[in-house]
Amino acid sequence: MKIGVLALQGDFDAHRRRLEELGAEVVLVRKPEQFDGIDGLIIPGGESSTFLKLLGEQSFQKLNDFVHCKPTFGTCAGAILLAKQVENPHQPGLNALDITIRRNGYGRQIDSTIVEAATTLGGDPLEMVFIRAPRIERVGEGVEVLAKYGDDPVLVRKGSVMAATFHPELSDDTRVHAEFLKLVKNGTK
Ligand code: GLN
Repeated sequence: MKIGVLALQGDFDAHRRRLEELGAEVVLVRKPEQFDGIDGLIIPGGESSTFLKLLGEQSFQKLNDFVHCKPTFGTCAGAILLAKQVENPHQPGLNALDITIRRNGYGRQIDSTIVEAATTLGGDPLEMVFIRAPRIERVGEGVEVLAKYGDDPVLVRKGSVMAATFHPELSDDTRVHAEFLKLVKNGTK
């Protein structure tokens, strides 16, 4: 199973290490043709507007095609890119997941924090590292909420697309990445 990690910017290397720890083969995706050889993709955290600038037309097209037909997991800025609707400021989303997401949605006061919250993935509460995190303000029909922080969905899934507004790659817990690998194993939506 080959998993691509979009490696233009941000904390892609922590995702690489986690995926390798779980036995996946990882490709750091930097060029448009690399999308062709992977079974699943992680879009890491970083700055979503910068991703959009760095992608370039060809990679943007490849990314857009990929997220609509193959398993993809976006964390933080990656979740913003996957969303149908992006606010604060408004910015184009790939529309792979029917959610409305607000960039830097927790404001300055708790812009970065570590919490624990329950998850439907089973087992103990999940540690969640939030870094200038976006806030999911709306989930569309059929979007499954796998974890919440207070009233806010923070880990969601529909079909083979998953998104987290926190950074599971920065915690020791491997459950979230393992769940994504399960999606990839089970094929496309
Ligand atoms: N604040 C960033 C954005 O709006 C996301 C932060 C992150 O990925 N840690 O794109």
